[in-house]
Amino acid sequence: MKKQHQLFRSYHLYILLFCCIIFVSCSSTQPLQNPTTSATLWMQNAAEYKALTTMVYQSAANDLGPILNKNETASLEQEGSNYQELPPAVILDVDETVLDNSPFQARLIKQNETYTPEKWNEWVREEQAEAIAGALAFTKAAADKGITVFYLTNREAQVEEATFDNLKELGFPLREDVDVLLTKNERPDWTSAKVNRRMHVAENYNILMLFGDNLNDFLPAEDITHEERQALIDKHRERFGTQWFVLPNPVYGSWEQALYDFEELTEEQVEQEELKKLKTKN
Ligand SMILES: [Mg+2]
Repeated sequence: MKKQHQLFRSYHLYILLFCCIIFVSCSSTQPLQNPTTSATLWMQNAAEYKALTTMVYQSAANDLGPILNKNETASLEQEGSNYQELPPAVILDVDETVLDNSPFQARLIKQNETYTPEKWNEWVREEQAEAIAGALAFTKAAADKGITVFYLTNREAQVEEATFDNLKELGFPLREDVDVLLTKNERPDWTSAKVNRRMHVAENYNILMLFGDNLNDFLPAEDITHEERQALIDKHRERFGTQWFVLPNPVYGSWEQALYDFEELTEEQVEQEELKKLKTKN
């Protein structure tokens, strides 16, 4: 009887232990199911990421002297005009180009939430984004050489002030006599495509370099197919590393929507489409 009782107790213990394991594994792995977890951890922790962005900006800074002498335009929209007579400028995208928003992504992962424009604007208004490694040194070096630094972002006009303050607090050069922070919908024709805003800068400045984490930061590439995106890189290959500088962003970008042709899909459908795109060679 005593032996049976002991057996019963240990049976209960096993069940309890099993439940504990299930509970612990569920509660600890669930947030890690977010597809951006690994990419976000990489951005926040990999010394290699810091090295990459430093490398991009350092290489651009080393080219500032020669590129000022060449006086060629980096902007396709500006070709064929009298840009050589205009004062020099560089244009940088903001998010994941000069500002690091990985804490916003980390919050979404930890809270098991998805992106919404409202949540994004809340984060922007906190003005807590830090500088991407290398960005500050480069923009200061450019400003010291008399080059006007423009920030061309798809952050909305309603959060322009918060964005300006965030950049200023970090020490980014921001001319006060010129509007150098060009936000989406600040003017009716300033759409997310960025072309009109590049043309706006091109009216008064020679655009020497472009910086971004998305093809749209360099040329019109909205809603184009995955294949067209790849072809554009080949077509403009001589510009990369000389006039066009790309920052890595593994968390989000047009590259991902291009995988499923920018269709409106549910999370499950996105997962299915992305699985189909994984290349296995068999
Ligand atoms: Mg960006």
